[in-house]
Amino acid sequence: MKILFLDQSGKPGGAELCLIDIAKPYRDRCLVGLFIDGPFRHFLEQQHIPVQILGTQSLQVRKSSSLLEGLGSVRQLVPMIAQVAKTAREYNLIYANTQKALVVGALASFISRRPLVYHLHDILSVDHFSQTNRRLAVTLANRFASLVIANSKASQAAFIEAGGHPDITEVVYNGFEPELYDTPESNNPSLLRQELGLEEQFVVGNFSRLSPWKGQHVLIEALTHCPSDVTAIFIGDALFGEQDYVKQLHERVKALGLEERVQFLGFRSNIAQLMAVCDLVAHTSTRPEPFGRVIVEAMLCGRPIVATQSGGAIELVEPGINGFLIPPDAPQELAQVIINCRDQPQHTATIAHHARNTASQRFHLININQQITQLLCQVVETNKKVLVR
Ligand code: UDP
Repeated sequence: MKILFLDQSGKPGGAELCLIDIAKPYRDRCLVGLFIDGPFRHFLEQQHIPVQILGTQSLQVRKSSSLLEGLGSVRQLVPMIAQVAKTAREYNLIYANTQKALVVGALASFISRRPLVYHLHDILSVDHFSQTNRRLAVTLANRFASLVIANSKASQAAFIEAGGHPDITEVVYNGFEPELYDTPESNNPSLLRQELGLEEQFVVGNFSRLSPWKGQHVLIEALTHCPSDVTAIFIGDALFGEQDYVKQLHERVKALGLEERVQFLGFRSNIAQLMAVCDLVAHTSTRPEPFGRVIVEAMLCGRPIVATQSGGAIELVEPGINGFLIPPDAPQELAQVIINCRDQPQHTATIAHHARNTASQRFHLININQQITQLLCQVVETNKKVLVR
């Protein structure tokens, strides 16, 4: 089976990292078409996955755009749709990995008569998207997609609530290679702890792009309710222009006198090593998280995880069994979990150990990729029959 993957982003967000894992087994018979160049291309090339840049500038389907603006930008897309439709004839399937990829992929699928699969990595709710974009995504998926792969039950439910056809959806969680999170370096974090000046600290790590809804501010506020040996490290950068928020975070740290207890380390690729220096990983999204890759990654690293009780996180974390849950935007509750983990290391380690064992089975990339391949084969087979008729 030959697959044409489409993704709008040049940056390595969660959806893009997930795409790398799905495309890897198809590297000798797939192409990833990106709408803009950027570091994501290098990530794909490192994995020997063929990649082509389809556009020269980012497409303008914004969160806030009205229907007319949305259609206006679709008109700008015509050359790209023509290019994708032409390329798609060499492939059995178009796999749209993002919303803007769905717009292009849907029309290209219609022209090229290749089936379309949409991997939904978003919660299509008012919290996250304008009504225009929700309507556009659902209408295109209903009309053109043979299959919508939702990355959690929460994403599936929001799609259906927004008018999506339930019978075209399947839930498939992100897959991970547990071996990548259990390396000699990640099992011996003392050197890195020393380099970061964290030897005597209780370290809480936040691994996420810096964005208001990812809630980094919640962890900063929580520190004010914690003993002074509790330190936070933030791994991640503003990927989508959230520079004002980054400035606010730095100002808040200064205003609260937390400069010695907070470090911003920027975007890093050695997630497993950095998680290993953490005594706790805090996932602080203030809006429902579609899946929350970081939650599973913390589990695979054997680090205790506290996450916000909404969206996909609820499907991943069983409180007190494999992690902890707190309400959204609740610094005091977060501080209480941090203090409990700090004061009860044995109990916390037992929970983290259990989480590592169960997550390495439940989210193993081999199983997840098998599920995806089966689904894609069904789509291609069904499409062949339709074309023959
Ligand atoms: N990540 C990374 N380097 C960083 C920060 C984050 O590689 O500096 C990775 C993180 O390990 C996770 C992904 O980015 O795999 C983020 O996925 P998630 O589902 O948590 O959030 P999204 O970015 O999709 O909203």
